[in-house]
Amino acid sequence: MQIYMNGKMVPKRDAKVSIFDHGLLYGDGVFEGIRAYNGRVFMLREHVDRLYRSARAITLKIPMSKQAMVNAVIRTCRENRTRNGYVRLVVTRGVGTLGLNPFTCKRPQVIIIAGTIQLYPKELYDKGMSIITVATVRNVAEAVNPNIKSLNYLNNILAKIEAINGGVPEAVMLNAQGFVAEATGDNIFIIKGNTLLTPPPYAGVLEGITRNVVMDLARQAGYDVREQMLTRYDVYNADELFLTGTAAEVVPVVTIDRRTIGDGKPGKITKDLERRFREFANSVGEPIF
Ligand code: PMP
Repeated sequence: MQIYMNGKMVPKRDAKVSIFDHGLLYGDGVFEGIRAYNGRVFMLREHVDRLYRSARAITLKIPMSKQAMVNAVIRTCRENRTRNGYVRLVVTRGVGTLGLNPFTCKRPQVIIIAGTIQLYPKELYDKGMSIITVATVRNVAEAVNPNIKSLNYLNNILAKIEAINGGVPEAVMLNAQGFVAEATGDNIFIIKGNTLLTPPPYAGVLEGITRNVVMDLARQAGYDVREQMLTRYDVYNADELFLTGTAAEVVPVVTIDRRTIGDGKPGKITKDLERRFREFANSVGEPIF
């Protein structure tokens, strides 16, 4: 495996960062997770745009243009012969002193890894997943805004620990007001009748790129799609429930907090959207070769 590091391709065993990198010392940096399907990088420009927005929000100046970043991702996929895979794009603050001051870091590190990911076991995509709501509250937008995809994912990791300790693979976090926010790396949708409902960005969620694609595809397919604040009551009374994310893709959920959703099998509309998503993902994107 060849890793992109600051303009060079480096063998995996030599791809190392300093222990003085503020990405390590403080989680000071930003990242993206991107998929490649069928020899193309899916929604690459949208991911690069979001990376630069995250960076701007933390005054991290990425030392290359967006187009150069797009080219670097494609190059990394090409050199690793990636046709289907998962790309992790990381920009750290770089090497600095032991204090917090980010301005001691002279050069941000740009790292691109073209690998693979399997977020949940395969059979959960057929059978549906069980999840729980957890006590860990989603970061409030007035502190670290959830739209900043920063290297500090401790809030989400705490929620993930609660899920795994509770015997399920995924957690849903509520926001500080008690409304449904999102899962640890996925957005949440419920379906009532012919309507898809998902929390709006102001609920304090990351505006997922998969979320937005699924909303568009659903509208094109004639479903009603609404952004709406949701309570646990709404979720417990949903006909269908699913999560979306780059790594997760579209994953059906069949129980939450031990309440069965619908008839306990992945829903019809969820399956339809999974199929439409797969078709779309395999037909668009930036060509690698
Ligand atoms: N929420 C959180 C907290 C995430 O980390 C992710 C994954 N990036 C998502 C939602 C899904 O976003 P996307 O569809 O852009 O991958």
